[in-house]
Amino acid sequence: MDSGLLRQLIGEVGQTVIARSEHLTDLDQAIGDGDHGINMKRGCEAVLAEIDSIAAKPLPEALRAIGTQLVMTVGGASGPLYGTLCLSLGKALPAEPDAQAVAAAVATALAAVQARGKSERGQKTLLDVLGPVSDRLSAGNLNSLTELAEIANEAATATIPLQATRGRASFLGERSIGHMDPGACSLALIIETLVTSLEGSKK
Ligand code: ADP
Ligand code: MG
Repeated sequence: MDSGLLRQLIGEVGQTVIARSEHLTDLDQAIGDGDHGINMKRGCEAVLAEIDSIAAKPLPEALRAIGTQLVMTVGGASGPLYGTLCLSLGKALPAEPDAQAVAAAVATALAAVQARGKSERGQKTLLDVLGPVSDRLSAGNLNSLTELAEIANEAATATIPLQATRGRASFLGERSIGHMDPGACSLALIIETLVTSLEGSKK
């Protein structure tokens, strides 16, 4: 992948998550401890501080560098999980992936995040976004990248009626019902931003 495009993707994702961090924190205030936006902002700032050296690397190494930064800086439950996501994508992806390679890498990363979180879909976590996105990629014949962003956003919305059975929100039992999961929201936001940025770069 071209280093200019990689820099643009990292920059836009980082800035968007930082811009929406208050919203993520509000969601985490409702069903967690109110730090998800703060955690993600800290991680994004650390990545953005290194953007020149990260974007100069081939895609797999860049993803591993991002994963390492996230593990070191995000904290909470989401830090190790987002870190695992990026590290395993970095291990599984070739430098110039095609659609099939992306689908296979995302499926591998999904399994790695599940193992790290000892969690599965349906528990009101970011897996409820990563799962459907991975399924759609593996099914192939994606009509457009925009479809993937729609799937991610719909999947995040679909966490609202779920009762959390993993993570801090699970402590609330039935009171976790009726709120969007903060991690599902941040992952959908990241996917939407990647899609918008990639679509924009084609023009
Ligand atoms: P913490 O819960 O430690 O305060 P954050 O607030 O940063 O960490 O992140 C919370 C998010 O992490 C949740 O909204 C959920 O999506 C995700 N999460 C928490 N625990 C797990 C888990 N075991 N498996 C998958 N995702 C999880
Ligand atoms: Mg939290």
